[in-house]
Amino acid sequence: MPAWICGTCGNHYPEAESPPGQCIICADERQWVPSSGQRWTTLADLAAAGHRSEVREVEPGLLGIGADPPVAIGQRALLVQTGEGNLLWDPPGFIDEQAVHAVREAGGLRSVSASHPHFYGAIAEWSAAFGAEILLPEADAHWLTRPAAAVRTWSGTHAVLPGVTLVQCGGHFPGSAVVHWAAGAGGSGALFAGDTIFVTPGEDRLTFVWSAPNRLPLPETAVRKVVDAVRPYQFDRIYGGWWQPVLRTGARRVLETSADRYIQFLRGDAAVE
Ligand SMILES: [Zn+2]
Ligand SMILES: [Zn+2]
Repeated sequence: MPAWICGTCGNHYPEAESPPGQCIICADERQWVPSSGQRWTTLADLAAAGHRSEVREVEPGLLGIGADPPVAIGQRALLVQTGEGNLLWDPPGFIDEQAVHAVREAGGLRSVSASHPHFYGAIAEWSAAFGAEILLPEADAHWLTRPAAAVRTWSGTHAVLPGVTLVQCGGHFPGSAVVHWAAGAGGSGALFAGDTIFVTPGEDRLTFVWSAPNRLPLPETAVRKVVDAVRPYQFDRIYGGWWQPVLRTGARRVLETSADRYIQFLRGDAAVE
């Protein structure tokens, strides 16, 4: 029996003869169901359709693992490597032997986590392949669609590895989180933001959404909470959920100015003529 994968969000469901009636992630107002109806796939079907894992060094100590062509929302995972073990973040719905091999070569996996439920993907398979703990924020743990024994919940902040900290920001989901990686960006610090904080296409601004596909904004109080949550950390770079865009430098300042600008629009204070 296959584990069923939602074709739209890439989340995995338990092994069964037939797929569930609906994907609870996509039925939620932050996601979407195709007008033609819910679609399901499996890892075997995706491999047969030509999907393969793509592994790239993003910067020293940081591997990216995506699917080519991309699957569902198309996020690529980040594997942050430390002397005390590795963390995999935001796994896509697709996983294959090549991806597992690349992680094994990079020192294996101690923990796997994600910015929010849209990006849980193959999190249960990754955990099973390496005996890794699954770290989920307490506030969002009920969204895990393929239950796994290795789940450990956290709230607020959680030091996973030396210099690698999970920071709960809320906003898009109550448990929406980022990773702060102190050694990132050549020692200036980096955030892995998923879509807790969106990097815009010009790689010079940031934005916030409650729902990206349905174009619903984040309220001011939530935007301020996101910015307040990461303000104590040193960082110069922000990686979003995809290979690109990346805000390469000046990210702390850009976060403050982008949040101020966003709030001007929410309040109706921005001159738009
Ligand atoms: Zn879905
Ligand atoms: Zn999302």
